[in-house]
Amino acid sequence: MTEGETVTGGGVAGAAPSPPPAIEFRDISKAFGQVQANRAVSLGVPKGEIHGIVGENGAGKSTLMSILYGVYEADSGEVLVNGKPVRIRSSRDAIDCGIGMVHQHFMLVDNFTVLENVVLGAEEGALIESSIEKARAELARLEEEYDLRVDQDAVAGDLPVGQQQRVEILKALFRGAEVLVLDEPTGVLTPQEAKQLFRILDALKEHGTTIILITHKLREIMAVTNSVSVMRGGEIVAVRRTQDTSEEELAELMVGRKVRTGERGEAREAGDVALKVGGLTVRDAQDVARVDNVSFEVKAGEIVCIAGVSGNGQSELLQALAGIMPLNNGEFEAMGRSFSPDHPANPKLMRELGIAHVPEDRIRMGLITDFVASESAILGYQRDPSFLNHMLYRMDYLFGHCRKLMENFDVRPRDPSLRSANFSGGNQQKLILARELERRPDILLVGQPTRGVDIGAIEFIHRQLREYRDAGCAILLVSVELDEVMSLADRILVMFEGRIVGEVDGRTADERTLGLMMANAHEGATDRVTEEARL
Ligand code: ADP
Ligand code: MG
Repeated sequence: MTEGETVTGGGVAGAAPSPPPAIEFRDISKAFGQVQANRAVSLGVPKGEIHGIVGENGAGKSTLMSILYGVYEADSGEVLVNGKPVRIRSSRDAIDCGIGMVHQHFMLVDNFTVLENVVLGAEEGALIESSIEKARAELARLEEEYDLRVDQDAVAGDLPVGQQQRVEILKALFRGAEVLVLDEPTGVLTPQEAKQLFRILDALKEHGTTIILITHKLREIMAVTNSVSVMRGGEIVAVRRTQDTSEEELAELMVGRKVRTGERGEAREAGDVALKVGGLTVRDAQDVARVDNVSFEVKAGEIVCIAGVSGNGQSELLQALAGIMPLNNGEFEAMGRSFSPDHPANPKLMRELGIAHVPEDRIRMGLITDFVASESAILGYQRDPSFLNHMLYRMDYLFGHCRKLMENFDVRPRDPSLRSANFSGGNQQKLILARELERRPDILLVGQPTRGVDIGAIEFIHRQLREYRDAGCAILLVSVELDEVMSLADRILVMFEGRIVGEVDGRTADERTLGLMMANAHEGATDRVTEEARL
């Protein structure tokens, strides 16, 4: 057996021949224009196993799964299901082959019930009364069999994401899926929800379902998979039995060199208070308080992280402090200035004061994808006189400036004339960070600095943030990634429904406590205890 082929459980020579893999890719290649997304990929996934696929952004994982699900057709190569070659040209074909996909962005119809969503599209004339009632019994049977409980009559849009995901899984099972593909399924879940998902995957495996799990979280791979393959540059570079590998080895295989993750640096004394927030309230267009009476401080030389499930007001808080969203109540002080509803901040003033902002949504706010890199590299600072000569941009200077940022922050490719859209997510993010950090801000507001960024770039960005902190920068960081929060934070504040519901020391924080706080189900929580959290 060579790498890239079927991973067996270590079969003994002379034993009965093992059954064909549930799914087998043979020499699959797929190009998008110049980009070779998949390159002669061969891989067999044994029936009834959980197989992980890891790889940096752009390694080709989603493309391979899209070929399996009939979204793309491969340029060459073939797919076999239970040993038989198949042609999958649509999701319909995939479903007919017993392949189900749990999408990263759930495809449920918000105002339909769970039951209606499950039935929808599964059979002819679906939403008529008789088929609905037949489906109800079948769904109940599936719930029972896989211990996958949902409220069939709940409206899908009202459910927490963890439950919506269960509905997606049930929907696939209802269509007879024997192979389930999950592409980055835990990005939107709390740790407790993720744990429940893995329990469900285990139950599915026990019942013989084959599962392909794509995640960039190596700890999840180690915890739930039987085998794992690593993709790099469109190829499968290694296949391992999970028990025979480690997070370190997988990380190295992914990036092609040694990586150091999770280093924390020395404990130090923080300096003076740099940012002081008091009773801050921010309402959205519907007059809902997205940030609700929030108070805290960030000191110079300190990283304070705001943890929480996305959508609990973290983004609005950061935008208010960056002068993008107006305050409705309360105030904050920064760089000797005080801001309140009567004394509003604005992005330009904040930059001039030395308060940098790396926005969460880099495509919408951080850069203009049609601009070339050298233009994105000065966005927000475009009126800086050093860039101009008699009102005209000094193009040579801009290119040189951009090239310098690219070198300092290892942006690849180092091409100031390349359109911003053509850099990978990690490299876009590095360019924005370079732009904001280059001016050595006193306060840095940063949202999701490594979302969608691969492991090599994460290591780099984290190191930069630590260096700026150590040099005295006050950093307020919003992240939904607990690993990130726990490896960077000196202090952690947890936000839930617009309020800060807990504070934890970054050095002693543990994932369980934080997860419970994120669901507002920790001891002393003031609100409802959700079913998800009561584990
Ligand atoms: P992964 O899921 O491992 O992050 P993808 O399979 O999404 O990687 O992408 C592999 C490569 O193919 C990347 O370079 C990506 O930019 C490119 N790619 C993916 N889908 C398309 C597409 N529809 N058009 C052009 N390029 C694409
Ligand atoms: Mg992907």
